[in-house]
Amino acid sequence: AEFEGFPETVIKCKAAVAWEPNKPLVIEEIEVAPPQANEVRIKIVATGVCHTDLYHLFEGMHKDGFPAVLGHEGAGIVESVGPGVIEFQPGDKVIPLFIYQCRECRFCKSPKTNQCEKGWAADRYDVMASAESRFTCKGKKILQFMGTSTFSEYTVVNQMAVAKIDPTAPLDKVCLLGCGVCTGYGAAVNTAKVEPGSTCAVFGLGAVGLAAVMGCKAAGAKKIIAVDINPEKFEKAKVFGATDFLNPKDHSKPISQVLSKMTNGGVDFSLECVGNVGVMRSALESCVKGWGVSVLVGWTDLYDVATRPIQLIAGRTWKGSLFGGFKSKDGVPQMVKAYLDKKVKLDEFVTHNMTLAQVNDAIELMKHGECIRTVLSVSPQ
Ligand code: NAD
Ligand code: ZN
Repeated sequence: AEFEGFPETVIKCKAAVAWEPNKPLVIEEIEVAPPQANEVRIKIVATGVCHTDLYHLFEGMHKDGFPAVLGHEGAGIVESVGPGVIEFQPGDKVIPLFIYQCRECRFCKSPKTNQCEKGWAADRYDVMASAESRFTCKGKKILQFMGTSTFSEYTVVNQMAVAKIDPTAPLDKVCLLGCGVCTGYGAAVNTAKVEPGSTCAVFGLGAVGLAAVMGCKAAGAKKIIAVDINPEKFEKAKVFGATDFLNPKDHSKPISQVLSKMTNGGVDFSLECVGNVGVMRSALESCVKGWGVSVLVGWTDLYDVATRPIQLIAGRTWKGSLFGGFKSKDGVPQMVKAYLDKKVKLDEFVTHNMTLAQVNDAIELMKHGECIRTVLSVSPQ
C-alpha cells in the first residue's frame, strides 16, 4: 500500500538519453523508480547545459559511462521522498548536487575541502556516472551522469546531494548555481583566494570562466585579464568585470610571455577554465614567480599536464578546484541568496532558452562557441 510521502509508483517521463558516445541524445520515455531510503525524487524544472556534459559525450567517452542521462546543472521541486528523509518535503525547491556533503566524513569535517567521500565522485571520476541508478528505458539500466541527470523530467538523488533553496528563487536562473557559476566563482574566491588589488588572468570565457571573472572582481582584483581564442566572448567578460582582453591568436609569442610583459613579470592569480592541458601549462607559466597561484578548473582526464619543475621551484603554486571548493549543500543556498540579494549575477549568463526537446540544438551551440549558457525548460512548474 502507498502511504503519504513514501510513494511506490514508478514515474514514466521524458528524458534525453545518451545511448552511446558521440551520437545525438534521444528523447525517450524512461521509468524513474520511487525514492529508496534517504533518497529524494525531484521534478526538474530547468537545467543548464555545461561543457562537462559535452566532455562526457564527445571527449571522455568512457565506455562504462553509457547509456546515461546527462545534465548536472539543474533546479527543481521535490516530488516525493523515501524513508528516512526529514529535511525535504514535496514542494520544496531544490538544486541537485554532483558532489555530496554528508557532513560526517573526515573530508566534510575539514574546512580545507569540499570533497566528501560519499557518492559517485568518491571513486568514479573517470566514469563520471554513479554505479547505481533509478532509471530504466526499454528494459535497460540507464546511468545517472554525475549522480544527477537533469536532462530528465524526474530524477532521484540521495538527500546528501540535494540543496534546499529559497522558495522565491527563479529556477530557470538559479539552476546555473548547480555547476558552472559556483565552479568559476568559487575557484577564484575559495581556491585561488584572489586578493584585493591583485592582477588576475582567466583563460576561457564560457560560463565557468565568466563566473571566475565575477569572482575575481568580487574579491577586489584591480586588473582582470580575460583570455579567449573567441573574441566574441570579450563583450560579456566586460559585463562581469574584466578590464583587459587577450586573444592568443593575435600574438605570435606564447601567451604566457605576452601576459608577463603586460604585468611586469606575471599575474598574481590565473584560472584555467577551458579543459586543455596546453592552456593549463600556459596559465601556470603566466603567473609571477614567488607567489603566483594557478588554478585548474577545466575538466579533462585524457592527457597528462606538464611543466618544468623550475616553474614551481620558483615559487608558483598549482592547484585544482572541484565545484569551486564550495561545500555543496552549504554553499549552493548561500549563492542563491547572494543572487536574490543582487550580489552575484546569473541572468547575464543565459544567452538562450529552449526546451528539453531541443537539447541537441543547445549542445551544438556550445560546441560551436555560440552561447554562454542555454537554459532548457524541462517540466512545467
Ligand atoms: P565553454 O565551452 O562554454 O567555454 C570554454 C571557453 O574556452 C570558450 O569560450 C572557448 O572559446 C575557450 N577556449 C577554447 N580553447 C581556448 C584556448 N586555447 N585558449 C583560451 N580559451 C579557449 O565551457 P564551460 O561550460 O564554461 O566549461 C569550461 C570548463 O570547465 C570545461 O572544461 C568544463 O568541463 C569545466 N568544468 C569544470 C568543473 C569543475 O568542477 N572543475 C565544473 C564545471 C565545468
Ligand atoms: Zn558542469
